[in-house]
Amino acid sequence: MNSQPIQKSNDFEDSQPVCPRCGSHNIRKNGHIHNDKQNHQCKDCGRQFVENNREKYISNSIKKWIDNNH
Ligand SMILES: [Zn+2]
Repeated sequence: MNSQPIQKSNDFEDSQPVCPRCGSHNIRKNGHIHNDKQNHQCKDCGRQFVENNREKYISNSIKKWIDNNH
């Protein structure tokens, strides 16, 4: 019987976005863009980015899946 919840380190990673340019964790929130996505800015290099990389990953894996099925 496991009554204790398992701590997921992924939760921490989700709240700590990484700069796509320099890989820094030194990120601050920079408001929201027009389609309600959270905007971030890297404090180290000043790069602004939106945390929606998952869509890219999904479309890439779908592409692979399509290629494999052709
Ligand atoms: Zn950066």
